[in-house]
Amino acid sequence: MTEAATRAHSDAIDDAVEQARERFAARRPLTAALHDRAQRFLPGGNTRSVLYHKPFPLRIARARDAILEDEDGHRYVDLLGEYSAGLYGHSDQVVLGAMVEALREGVSRGAHTGREVDLAEAVCARFASIERVRFTNSGTEANLMAVAAARAFTGKGSVLAFRGGYHGGLLNFTAGPSPVNAPYDVLLAEYNDAPAAMSLLHEHAGSVACVLVEPMLGSGGCIPRDYGFLAALRSATEEAGALLIFDEVMTSRTGAGGLQGRLRITPDVTTLGKYIGGGSSFGAFGGRADVMAQFDPARTGALPHAGTFNNNVASMAAGLVGLTQVYPPDVAERHTAAGDALREELCATFRAAGVPFQATGVGSLLAIHATAAPVRSRSDLASSEPRLLELLFLDLLERGYYIAPRGYMALSLVLTPADLAGFVRAVDEIMMTRAALWPTS
Ligand code: PMP
Repeated sequence: MTEAATRAHSDAIDDAVEQARERFAARRPLTAALHDRAQRFLPGGNTRSVLYHKPFPLRIARARDAILEDEDGHRYVDLLGEYSAGLYGHSDQVVLGAMVEALREGVSRGAHTGREVDLAEAVCARFASIERVRFTNSGTEANLMAVAAARAFTGKGSVLAFRGGYHGGLLNFTAGPSPVNAPYDVLLAEYNDAPAAMSLLHEHAGSVACVLVEPMLGSGGCIPRDYGFLAALRSATEEAGALLIFDEVMTSRTGAGGLQGRLRITPDVTTLGKYIGGGSSFGAFGGRADVMAQFDPARTGALPHAGTFNNNVASMAAGLVGLTQVYPPDVAERHTAAGDALREELCATFRAAGVPFQATGVGSLLAIHATAAPVRSRSDLASSEPRLLELLFLDLLERGYYIAPRGYMALSLVLTPADLAGFVRAVDEIMMTRAALWPTS
């Protein structure tokens, strides 16, 4: 393309995005009014950054099964699944029933309960690396505590993490280290580059307490690990006297025993969150008994781990029935296969349409990217044009499908084959309608 043609193409994308935003706003007067009001009390009308999008964010008034309804009465098939926490859909009767029953027995108890033992037993039975577990209120907290545990256990201070990694709002490396990250000394390596990580680890063996890694880069773009990458980290951490922490907050759903079960790699510590709380606030960190024993309060000099709501009644009750009744190992395997099939279908659709898009991910966790080039690390996404993903997001909303503005999806159990087929058709239509906007190479 000549420079003038490139500029004209870019202007055409800007115009299309602008028009799509105007169309979104025109059809949502009640949502717009709520956004205006929200801005008087919440900075930018927002209390969770990821939910913001232009011109103003969607507000969901109610949700049932896999259907969301916004404040203006528009309905959407939900393919975002609460950024993977909504695996059970919005109204699973087993989960809701267990929560209501538990809450009726008393909301806040200020004491241990039997249910936290049941959930801990179910979590330990499910994930091979977890001999002992502790609960938190979020995945962020789980990772902060896992890092703290590793630092105390090894007597070393720094953390090796990966560009594009996301371990919570205070451990966010999706666009380099976030300015609000916890002030740990963090070394960053390229995801899927085993030699680079191993040489960093070797060089800093005296100071690295742990390697913190997602077995698939989640928020960083659903980028699967290459064969051998995680196995190399497993042996290199052992040699360096550092702990290997798998952040499975997202990926624990992608197989009967989490992604670690599928890969047959056992980290020292695993962090969990999202759907395992059945839709309520949740996080957990667990692993080797000797590492976790540091938190045994009966021990002299035990590490403290506080949290008023760590064992809250709603999360414990919902989490237990979710893991044992709604998402037992065989369902996890089937759901993972269904997600793999959808991803392949999307890729086939893009290929057939001849457009430079692709879907990446593992099982029921997927992301659409506006590039056809291989995606192995976060830097490979530099050419994926965010404006095109925003356009896809807004066009899908108009057709009644909800994904994340960045192209991310987490499939719930209540999506029907018809929902998924309709979604693929909608994507295909958008690829055709907007054909002039897609890059030619
Ligand atoms: N780790 C991973 C891999 C995540 O995807 C997330 C949330 N997107 C977190 C940690 C943080 O979890 P939470 O939002 O519950 O703090």
